[in-house]
Amino acid sequence: MSRIVYVNGDYVPEEEAKVSIFDRGFLMADGVYEVTSVLGGKLIDFDGHAKRLERSLSELDMAMPMSADDLLAIHRELVAKNGIDEGMIYLQVTRGAPGDRDFAFPPEDTPLTVVLFTQNKPGLADSPVAKQGIKVISIEDIRWGRRDIKTVQLLYPSMGKMMAKKAGVDDAWMVEDGAVTEGTSNNAYIVKNGTIITRQLSTDILHGITRAAVLRFAAEAQMKVEERPFTIEEAQDADEAFITSASTFVMPVVEVDGATVGTGRPGPVAARLREIYLEESRNAAI
Ligand code: PLP
Repeated sequence: MSRIVYVNGDYVPEEEAKVSIFDRGFLMADGVYEVTSVLGGKLIDFDGHAKRLERSLSELDMAMPMSADDLLAIHRELVAKNGIDEGMIYLQVTRGAPGDRDFAFPPEDTPLTVVLFTQNKPGLADSPVAKQGIKVISIEDIRWGRRDIKTVQLLYPSMGKMMAKKAGVDDAWMVEDGAVTEGTSNNAYIVKNGTIITRQLSTDILHGITRAAVLRFAAEAQMKVEERPFTIEEAQDADEAFITSASTFVMPVVEVDGATVGTGRPGPVAARLREIYLEESRNAAI
């Protein structure tokens, strides 16, 4: 069945949705995005995603195209129109379509392009993969220096996923100056002697909305957290490893560059954090 998507004020069947060939997102990757998950037909961490969207836009001299309340209404309308119980809402805002190609930004009154669509993923929360854990390889982090802005420049992360696939594993962790920055589409963590270790926030990584929630829940559960860079060797020698993102929640990592992490099975800290995250997020979903 065809989806109903949102394009610049209209709800249309996906086959009828159109964006100009001059769109800055298409020509220049001049746009930002958010992915919000849906559980039980409700939005997880919507406020966090709306705030990060505003920050990403503002860092690139773009304003929010509408209020967070209007954005929420569109998210809810798409969930309803497409009957989503578990899945994701993808939102993209670009600097619009000025009618020609030019490196210079278009005039400020050029309307931003706003597109949203749903991705139906039944069984997203009860993932069998989470019970096994995933395997990762390390790759060099050669992305640009403003990874805190959630831009649609995803070519290198896509290449990273393909490198992982070719190596017969699930994902890649990116490494810069000897330390892990993050996964291709997630934040990276290890657990050693009961302490959760994850890289501190900076322009080197995306400030994950799931990361913020998970670290808050970890602190509330009296778990120890250290925000600092870690190496691949430390990860291979850790008791546990895991990733977080809006679409995978908390996902155990059981192998890093061919070396088994801990017992090779999802560890208790990752399993507990996944449980707490899912429970608390469902309770707070809107
Ligand atoms: N890091 C990168 C590079 C990402 O692309 C993502 C999500 O797409 C994340 C981290 C996790 O962020 P969030 O928890 O907000 O989904």
